[in-house]
Amino acid sequence: MRYWLVMPAAGVGTRFGGRIPKQYAALRGRTVIEWALAPFLADGRCAGAAVALASGDTWWAKVAERIPAVTVCQGGSDRSESVRNALLALNRRAAKDDWVLVHDAARPCLPAADLDRLIAQLETHPVGGILALPVADTLKRALRADGVPNAAASASALPATAAPAITTRAAPVGAPKGAAASKSASEASAPAIEVTVERVGLWRAVTPQMFRFGLLLTALETTLAGKRFPTDESQALEWQGHQPLLVEGSAANIKVTTVADLALAESVLAAREAK
Ligand code: C5P
Repeated sequence: MRYWLVMPAAGVGTRFGGRIPKQYAALRGRTVIEWALAPFLADGRCAGAAVALASGDTWWAKVAERIPAVTVCQGGSDRSESVRNALLALNRRAAKDDWVLVHDAARPCLPAADLDRLIAQLETHPVGGILALPVADTLKRALRADGVPNAAASASALPATAAPAITTRAAPVGAPKGAAASKSASEASAPAIEVTVERVGLWRAVTPQMFRFGLLLTALETTLAGKRFPTDESQALEWQGHQPLLVEGSAANIKVTTVADLALAESVLAAREAK
């Protein structure tokens, strides 16, 4: 089995703050992106990698000096465009039925066991799937700041099997009970609850996401041509009528979004090293 790696790294990370994009933040003697790339660059099954970078990226050059050669390409203004561009950069080398794994540059703690489980569970699947975690907490949907309900619908329940398929059927969550009361100044930063969302069958999607190369490229090109921007690779496939699988991952595979996440990543890596 061989696969290609695509790493979208063109985000600017507004919630992270500071001068340096989060993927280039220092983390235990390397940068976040180097930790994110490491399990793949050390894996004999990985045939090659493409990294999508923001225009004017001045940090990548230093990273490139420290790692094996990878293909780089221009990122897009949406994550899905960055992934599409990276797929195009590999397109001449990859076969349609090859696997491609897409992993966020901001996830530096992917356990090797998660990567192996993802590949083992999907290897013979015609489409692919994603690492994900069953939702453990009670979920609340907040009212908008202006008191208007967030009119979105929640995903319908999924069967609790080892690797359930993702379904795109949506079910309404029910009408909110009454409009929001007017807020005092002290309540302004604490939104009111619109409704409790039934968590049965809900999973949290993470990366890597693993798909047949040709299917993912077609799905992304189709959706982007229609100016629809999927939140992850799986959604592009779901919009094409596919039902990718959910493979359970571990909570250690965190995404660095804030400075506090960076400290958490530091302790995850330190604990792993200590073992
Ligand atoms: O912003 P967020 O953490 O959701 O981004 C997930 C990944 O997508 C990051 O690795 C980020 O660099 C990348 N990204 C991208 N192009 C964009 C936006 C995000 O490659 N336009």
